[in-house]
Amino acid sequence: YSGKSPHEVVAAKIRRFKVGELQSRPVVVGEATSIHDAIITLFLEDVGTLFVAREGGILEGVVSRKDLLKIAFGTGDIRNLPVGVIMTRMPNIITTSPEEPAWEAARKLVLHEVDALPVVEPVADNKNELRVVGRFSKTTVARLFVEIGERR
Ligand code: ADP
Repeated sequence: YSGKSPHEVVAAKIRRFKVGELQSRPVVVGEATSIHDAIITLFLEDVGTLFVAREGGILEGVVSRKDLLKIAFGTGDIRNLPVGVIMTRMPNIITTSPEEPAWEAARKLVLHEVDALPVVEPVADNKNELRVVGRFSKTTVARLFVEIGERR
């Protein structure tokens, strides 16, 4: 540790964690899923954010709990309205990748004021398509924070 302040040592340690070792399982629905069924999924899967993908897990959008709350509170027929009409769409989705340092992904959560990022990988033959492979959320960061605190 010669020449390094304790702060630098901690920072260097934190920067070593990668998204891929911390990510959780993504909860994914199709664009045609009704608002009603999306809300049910939110409860059953115990998550706050759903990722919307098409065949092959190709990312199309994100639906948050407040997106759902807003539409359910209105007059809409939530059994017949698909999540596709309210989701935040590609290319406006903030994503991360398994190789990205976790602190950079955490910085994206803070900077863009969102609760979760889809963890994505490029699809071999298409630069514009991203496959959803995981979920990185504020809970992921809180869990890591606790884990670091517990280490001796
Ligand atoms: P909530 O709306 O439940 O507080 P968020 O703060 O995560 O949850 O979402 C705020 C808005 O940003 C919502 O409209 C949602 O669709 C959108 N959003 C959520 N996650 C992302 C993301 N990773 N990239 C882009 N937009 C997102």
